[in-house]
Amino acid sequence: MAITIGKGGKETSGIIDDDVVQPFSLESTGLRGRMVRLGPCLKQIIELHDYPLPVSYLLSEAVTLSLLLAAMLKYDGIFTLQIQADGPIRAIITDVNAKGHIRAYAAFDHDEIAAMDHGDHQQDHNYYHLLESGYMSFTVDQGDNTDRYQGIVNLTGNSLMDAVQHYFAQSEQIRTAIRMSIHPQDDQWRSGAVMVQYIPETPEQEADHDRQSERLEDWQRTTILMETCRDEELLSPNLHSADVLYRLFHEEGVRVYPPTPIKHVCRCSRERVSNVLQTLSADERKDAQDEKGEIDITCEFCGRQYFFTRRDVEELNEAADRKN
Ligand SMILES: [Zn+2]
Repeated sequence: MAITIGKGGKETSGIIDDDVVQPFSLESTGLRGRMVRLGPCLKQIIELHDYPLPVSYLLSEAVTLSLLLAAMLKYDGIFTLQIQADGPIRAIITDVNAKGHIRAYAAFDHDEIAAMDHGDHQQDHNYYHLLESGYMSFTVDQGDNTDRYQGIVNLTGNSLMDAVQHYFAQSEQIRTAIRMSIHPQDDQWRSGAVMVQYIPETPEQEADHDRQSERLEDWQRTTILMETCRDEELLSPNLHSADVLYRLFHEEGVRVYPPTPIKHVCRCSRERVSNVLQTLSADERKDAQDEKGEIDITCEFCGRQYFFTRRDVEELNEAADRKN
């Protein structure tokens, strides 16, 4: 089911649609895209971790991008965006499942980040340089019996967005345009983003010069329209995402599809932690025990603690032995 917001279409201002991924297509050109708006969900993630501003900011970018990209997730499964870097910020991991349940965390050097003076706090809140060098990977895990998709890209360019666009252009031959805005004020974390992609056609169509130069014009016109999107439009909780898309693309015949609501949910459980512990070698489990023989594990995503007594660890060892 899709709703076309054509000329004369009614705007639906006043309806708040926070925490959604809104897919859309443009009738005039067949280009497809998605829009992400995050409010309370992003706030929950940021407040839970209480990281320093630069870390919270990059984490918000990663969360927003992962929702734009989770379109790669066609069936039930998990999409993971992982950044591994050499800078003061060492890692950012965020994953989302097909139900729109997202979680995220970052690892960083507290001292190095704390030592940054205010001059390091960028006016434009671009903290990409704090990753220095490294890579970003995308994994789509659709269960035990299916192939995992994995894509990987070096942290090139001046932002995470640049790296994502570079990845699609190089690895997938998909031109990708993204416009993203994040509002990083302590009690009002919000993000908004819109992405349009240009998927290659069949080899015959690609060989048709006139057709392709027309497609290129379509693409350029669309990305120019997208660039006109203001931060307030991307971020305003009082503006429905369909309204923002209509403002941007009404001349292109924008069509919106049912949105996916997004929630901050961690999938960790004692059972999952036990399973992970059982897959470790006996030596690794021993290393994880403290001097009393207990194991205390904190979920990086949500902070929940899982405590295993000496007796519990013995049971884990026995269970692991039975499996091997
Ligand atoms: Zn958790």
